[in-house]
Amino acid sequence: MSTEIYLDANATSAVLPAAIAAADAAMRAGFGNPSSTHATGLQAKAMLDGVRACARRVLGVGNGRLVFTSGATEGIQTAVLSALCAIRERQLRGEPTGSLLLYGATEHKAVPEALAHWNRILGTGLVLCALPVDRAGQHRLDMLRELAPQAALVCTMAANNETGAVSDLAGIEAILRDSPAYWMVDSVQALGKIALDLAATRIDYAPFSGHKLYAPKGVGMLYVRDGAPYTPLMAGGGQEGGARAGTENMSGIAALGAVLEALEQGGLFRTHDELVAMRERLADALRAVFPGIVFNSPFATSLPTTLNFSVPGFASKELLDLFDAANVRVSSGSACSSAKAAPSYVLEAMCAPAWACAAAVRMSFGPLATMAFIDAACQRIAHCGAALRASCLIPSDTPMASHDGVIQLGSDGANTWIVADAASRSCVLIDMHEQHEERVASYVRCQGYAVRARLSTCDVQGWPEGSMQVALGNGTQAAAIAMGENVLARLAPDDIFMGVSYLFGRCGGAGLASGEVRFAFTGGQVLPGGVCVSLPLAQLRHGVQRLAALVHADTILCPARDDKNQVCSSIGAEGRGAGVLAELLAMQPRLARPALPAMDSMMHLAPDGLERFLASHPDAVLVDVREAFEHAAATAPEWGGQRALSVPLSRLASHLPQWLAGPQRPLVFFCRTGNRSARAAQCLHRLGYQNAWSVIGGMALGGAALALAA
Ligand code: PLP
Repeated sequence: MSTEIYLDANATSAVLPAAIAAADAAMRAGFGNPSSTHATGLQAKAMLDGVRACARRVLGVGNGRLVFTSGATEGIQTAVLSALCAIRERQLRGEPTGSLLLYGATEHKAVPEALAHWNRILGTGLVLCALPVDRAGQHRLDMLRELAPQAALVCTMAANNETGAVSDLAGIEAILRDSPAYWMVDSVQALGKIALDLAATRIDYAPFSGHKLYAPKGVGMLYVRDGAPYTPLMAGGGQEGGARAGTENMSGIAALGAVLEALEQGGLFRTHDELVAMRERLADALRAVFPGIVFNSPFATSLPTTLNFSVPGFASKELLDLFDAANVRVSSGSACSSAKAAPSYVLEAMCAPAWACAAAVRMSFGPLATMAFIDAACQRIAHCGAALRASCLIPSDTPMASHDGVIQLGSDGANTWIVADAASRSCVLIDMHEQHEERVASYVRCQGYAVRARLSTCDVQGWPEGSMQVALGNGTQAAAIAMGENVLARLAPDDIFMGVSYLFGRCGGAGLASGEVRFAFTGGQVLPGGVCVSLPLAQLRHGVQRLAALVHADTILCPARDDKNQVCSSIGAEGRGAGVLAELLAMQPRLARPALPAMDSMMHLAPDGLERFLASHPDAVLVDVREAFEHAAATAPEWGGQRALSVPLSRLASHLPQWLAGPQRPLVFFCRTGNRSARAAQCLHRLGYQNAWSVIGGMALGGAALALAA
């Protein structure tokens, strides 16, 4: 479990040991400048020439040019600049050129961005036009046939980085044969996976990148067909025969040389059939865990090393979190876009359903993978499946430990609340949002809970027949549902604002006393920091203060929305704040809480200070706020023989009353990246718990320190 399974080779690959050795040698004995004419320089030049010769053979460049670059992005710029300069010359001579810069709709962003950039800089005034692809990610050849006569430059990648879809280059070539348009083929993902014989094709430009195939970052190649126009991107000392100025990245080129040599000699890289068998095994492991899985690119026309899939009911971020917890590195969409939550533009261009675009996960491996590695990955996938079953996210035959308390499901700022009672094996759903329906249904099914009511804070619909009456803290009576030793009481619309609120707490002989109310579900009416209804101030004050009279300062406010990522709040915290609520609550001395010192960076623990902090705070509790399925998939750290406490962010609210009521032991929250733990620590601070901490960078940066704690 502790070893990393790296399945993100399309983003970048590990460096081949022979490539590291070659780079090392180039930096030690072979450190010379290949432009120097003394022996040290000549030795470096010999290495450079040797790598170029090897690259020419591997790519089949014939009489074409092979220029070393810093990577594919530079190769793309150079190709686009070269083609556009030639087009501009033709324009200036009054010769006809096409008017379109045609690019595949699923190209890497470097391509349309480079086209737009150089078209603007050079003033060529051409029109960028995305060539549509079909459901399989294949370029629409019918559209290409139609558009080709107007094209000045056509860009069609060899294989897609997100889906692995392999383009029909022969079909494209047949259409472009008689067209005067230049043709660039981004070949980054094809190297080492598809046989290339470039000079035998009509391709004018083909950029490559070293770091996608076991060479380091910062080195690449650009093939330019013999006779295709060329304009250097960089001018200077005349290196690369004047094609690309700047002293060469010799260690990178040496490393790339080692990879190309291995490719040329054969034997090291797996054959296509071997890679296909590996993909099949991975796909079977995924199908076993996720019977509803959808593969987004047909295997028959995709690289065998790329699997792009979506699982109904799971956001890609959730699966990424799950796999990352189990030390399996995958990506949501492409590496460039996975930091953003935006759906994949590649899948959108393929007209994949919206849910699949937003839920896509990419697993990719390199052609050096072994079956033993794939088997280890499959085992880890099965382990992730077990973690999901244990967390009620996929069906399970084994009975689960019953949940008790409050669960918060949040997405896009919308909260659904589940009030679960283990004793009566029942639950109540409050402010159910559409996007959580499936998740809640599988949770309820897996827990074997009866849904007592589906309530809304907007209206009284869903309240069950024959409910009981309880006395509230101010002596009034309210309808209530008994849940074990607790009750859920309803505050009818005319009591508080226009909507309905619900109070949850232990019911004593005298009813639901204010001091016993642990949670108040206030919907969209009382939100952290404010009140979301437009009523006259006096009426608002009356409503807020009536609510305040029925609860206590640390009653947790559970709103229907969490747009500020605050998780939840309390009346005491709101009274202390600077929002409208503070003003409306000003008349309530019973709820007053001392002002807090300003929240500062002290609540963040740097990973390298974590061990020291834990050693000097033996009463500290490590709290894993990753979701239960992530915690179950991971080897959770421990401190002083104590396993980290698992309190998923979705159950933070449930734990707050007990933390706020007890002694303030240091709580050290951690998660995958440090974002959720920071939210948890901030929430506790706001609620008056000063001793809450968050590990900066989470398991990603503090993993070593957290593992040390184990
Ligand atoms: N083209 C494709 C298809 C890629 O996958 C990438 C890398 O993400 C690039 C271009 C850019 O390559 P580089 O990182 O070498 O600039």
